[in-house]
Amino acid sequence: MDEMILLKLGELVLKGLNRRSFEDRLIANARRQLQPYGHFRVYARQSTLYVEPRDSQADVAGAFEAMKHLFGVVGLSRALSCPKDKDAILDTVKSYLGDRLSAAKTFKVETKRADKTFPMTSIQLSQYVGGELDDAYPHLKVDVHHPELTVYLEVRDYAAYVHADPEPGAGGLPVGTAGRAVSLLSGGIDSPVASWMMAKRGLALEMVHFYSYPYTSPEAKQKVLDLAGQLTGWCGSLTVHVVPFTAIQEALMRSCPEALFTVLMRRFMMRIAQRVAQRIGAGALVTGESLGQVASQTIDAMRITGAACTLPILRPVVGMDKEEIVRIARQIGTFETSILPYEDCCTVFTPRHPRLHPLPGEIETAEAGLDIDGMVEAAFQGIERVRIH
Ligand code: ATP
Ligand code: MG
Repeated sequence: MDEMILLKLGELVLKGLNRRSFEDRLIANARRQLQPYGHFRVYARQSTLYVEPRDSQADVAGAFEAMKHLFGVVGLSRALSCPKDKDAILDTVKSYLGDRLSAAKTFKVETKRADKTFPMTSIQLSQYVGGELDDAYPHLKVDVHHPELTVYLEVRDYAAYVHADPEPGAGGLPVGTAGRAVSLLSGGIDSPVASWMMAKRGLALEMVHFYSYPYTSPEAKQKVLDLAGQLTGWCGSLTVHVVPFTAIQEALMRSCPEALFTVLMRRFMMRIAQRVAQRIGAGALVTGESLGQVASQTIDAMRITGAACTLPILRPVVGMDKEEIVRIARQIGTFETSILPYEDCCTVFTPRHPRLHPLPGEIETAEAGLDIDGMVEAAFQGIERVRIH
């Protein structure tokens, strides 16, 4: 059986003149994500991406699961192709969907006819195949409104395709079509979700992680690399820039008011992330901040943090409740790793009474004696880059 996968394109069908480059990117992303599953042919026709195995070694079931994580796809089905002939189509439905027809009580047939030279209309083909199936499976009843099983027939330029109900795709836009950004990835619940949300809107991401050895353990760093690994299923290969952050934190502890420690530290995070962004040609930063969740996530604190850099800071979870963020974390598979109990650099140095509403003037005073550029540059030079496939 030459079973294949049909992917329905989402929003990118609206892209007009840019559509071709969106499709090309989607195809490249699909090919990359299919690599572990064998050899496939991938091409686009009529708002659909076709994924066809090139040989019998290819793992179609594995590929199907991988394609559920491909941004830019709204629905996907495993399908069987057959000649464009009503009886060939009927035979294919019986052999390919026979088990499902036997298990269902109600069904309907729905035909899409892209090839207008096909001698029957969509309705005629649906009626023909539906009638024959009704006879062949006496327990089955036609229900056009709420069928348990819908048999889809698609008559296209080169072949006809038979499949059952499509499964929902990942949605969004192909990764890389919206440019590039640097995402600040901690070991928490929020930042992997924020990264996923922006990748879904088409951003290609590189990760920055601030690491405070020996205050935080190698396990804490490994946890972040594991989270990045889980995101590669959606984003493709990722680079994690692991920034040595201990010296900066110690300098702030020595010379700055304790109540301002977190916001001052976060300003350094933004400066260093921006330095990484300049190096890789990224146009924005991404964080997992959520309004009011902790002291450093008040509007005043976010304003002061954001003022340390010029790039826009994207905060996709800013208006979400923790519960909503957790729901996505579970859905994308990062939650269990995120809740592993390793200290993050922020929790190790949390002040007892952080200032909820820091003022620009007091930040300026606190930073006056610091060699900011030198500290940023030293951290940047110490970066360890880890490529995750
Ligand atoms: P998360 O669950 O993402 O860790 P959080 O609720 O713990 O977020 P904070 O610790 O205030 O919140 O961090 C806010 C954001 O700052 C994080 O979502 C992340 O984007 C960034 N951040 C915090 N700590 C680090 C770190 N060690 N390395 C990289 N980014 C960090
Ligand atoms: Mg955190």
